[in-house]
Amino acid sequence: MTTRTVALTLNAGSSSLKFGLFDIAAGPVEMASGLVESIGGQPRLRAEFGAAAAPVTRDLTGAEAADHHGALATALDVLRAQFPEARAGVVGHRVVHGGPGFTEPVEITPSVMAELRRLSPFAPIHQPHNLAGIEAAQAAFPEAMQVACFDTAFHRSHPKVNDVFALPREYYDKGVRRYGFHGLSYDYISGELARIAPLIHDGRVIVAHLGNGASMCGMVGGRSIASTMGFTALDGLPMGTRTGQIDPGVIFYLVQQEGLSIDEVRQLFYTKSGLLGLSGLSNDMRTLEAAGTVEANEAIDYFVFRIRRELGGLAAALGGLDALVFCGGIGENSRLIRERVCEDMAWIGLELDRERNTRNDTVISTDMSRARIMVVPTNEELVIARAARRLSAAPA
Ligand code: AMP
Repeated sequence: MTTRTVALTLNAGSSSLKFGLFDIAAGPVEMASGLVESIGGQPRLRAEFGAAAAPVTRDLTGAEAADHHGALATALDVLRAQFPEARAGVVGHRVVHGGPGFTEPVEITPSVMAELRRLSPFAPIHQPHNLAGIEAAQAAFPEAMQVACFDTAFHRSHPKVNDVFALPREYYDKGVRRYGFHGLSYDYISGELARIAPLIHDGRVIVAHLGNGASMCGMVGGRSIASTMGFTALDGLPMGTRTGQIDPGVIFYLVQQEGLSIDEVRQLFYTKSGLLGLSGLSNDMRTLEAAGTVEANEAIDYFVFRIRRELGGLAAALGGLDALVFCGGIGENSRLIRERVCEDMAWIGLELDRERNTRNDTVISTDMSRARIMVVPTNEELVIARAARRLSAAPA
């Protein structure tokens, strides 16, 4: 059997492992994608193979996905059964934190791995799981090149004024900076704009990545100038379960007056707040849109309000606005949220065409709108696969 060299992409979360398989000779072109979720609990696997075969969904035994190593082994069994000719020449990993130093994807050498471990305290909830995914892949594919792609890297182009907090300077030197996240998504959107709307790409663009995690990025010429996330992926917009922007004084109050430990505050801010906290119902926008309760509507109101506020702030940072681009699960699918965000925004140049919005067109602004409004589906896995292909093809 002739073998086919492919790239595997991995995105390891706390209890999930997303994977993708790409034919790198052809592009890269996606062959399969999937997810193992509830690792360490009652795990489930879902894999899709495009037009090549029917999707696979099955409950796994605890032993099949007790940790990331087990989850990867189980996912690989499913991929090998479907593509016995595939040989992973390179594995690309989503890594949440690249610190100030990593501005591009890199091959993971032992010294890079040591540096990624050193950066773990900057993203204690995400980075250790990313590293567990890398270790699992290194064990499964000792011969393959491993590549790290960073959520922070895209924002390293932002100016110093958007890199600092107003703290004594020594903390900046220790790495307490405004890093920004969702960089793989913004990188993809920037590339797509260059392809489908080059004049827009060269101008002043705000991208709203609205998913379970949500942030916005202001770009000029396709490069990040400012973003709503900061030192961690907690700042900025409210999210499914995360607070978004909050007065740090609330933390002092919760600890000193309510007696919460720092770990309890962290849990509260990351997992019980945002849309879930405000609605008391769900972190899922579809559920909130359908619910129609006072609390669900208030959660939606706050989400929309913060997006509109950041939109104004980012437009000021960019010195004007040529386009607003929606992406992420909510941005790509929720007509209601897009409509509410763009309501009465003609003063900033945004005029939504309701029919185009309802049809989910790529351009959803009116022909008269001074700035364009677009919906561009994001694809973080493809950004990883492209980097993996590029680095594995580069001469050693
Ligand atoms: P993501 O994290 O990018 O996968 O996005 C997940 C979010 O997108 C969840 O809050 C979903 O409820 C939301 N979402 C997906 N489809 C829709 C839809 N048709 N309408 C509203 N929200 C949606």
